[in-house]
Amino acid sequence: MSEVLYSEGDLKKVVAELAAAIAADFMGHSVLLLGLLKGCQPFLADLCRQLSYHQLNVAVDYLLVSSYVGSSSSGKVVIKQLSVDESFCRQRNVIVIDDIFDTGLTLQKVTAWLQAKGAAQVKSCVLLSKSGCNQTEMVPDYCGVEIPAVFVVGYGLDYNEKYRELPYIKVLAENEISA
Ligand code: 5GP
Ligand code: MG
Repeated sequence: MSEVLYSEGDLKKVVAELAAAIAADFMGHSVLLLGLLKGCQPFLADLCRQLSYHQLNVAVDYLLVSSYVGSSSSGKVVIKQLSVDESFCRQRNVIVIDDIFDTGLTLQKVTAWLQAKGAAQVKSCVLLSKSGCNQTEMVPDYCGVEIPAVFVVGYGLDYNEKYRELPYIKVLAENEISA
């Protein structure tokens, strides 16, 4: 049996709290929310809506980033820019939006990449963070909830491209892991 970790209602509350924290810090400033595809999708959409209730105006862009194969990290982070504008992040306040912080390697690489491209400020916001897995000095600036070191799916998070559509987050059950 799969264990539901966060229901749709739980997630709504967590996202609303994150939006309130971001809005309080960035009110009056322009912000570029930079989502890491594909996992950021439902989280970023809900976060944008919540930010609009605080009258914080944001621009949205995406990077396509991958490191996971099945249920383990390859450790090799590959970044693909989706914006056609080479200078899309130059002198901008960027908040990187990711589904989950695990080893920290993704955020470390993306942050360095954005700084090299001339971002004025790079902050990060993750929905989930796994306890005890960080291999870097990175700490997410905004973090929804800490979870134990389990493999989770749903609300954008996949296992071999499955389960992204679930409106809740669950732990992947043994019998759902295939070779
Ligand atoms: P990190 O680079 O911090 O190790 O991992 C970040 C990325 O790994 C996330 O954006 C996500 O794509 C993937 N990831 C890490 N842990 C999990 C997990 O428990 N479930 C899923 N579906 N993806 C994960
Ligand atoms: Mg990801």
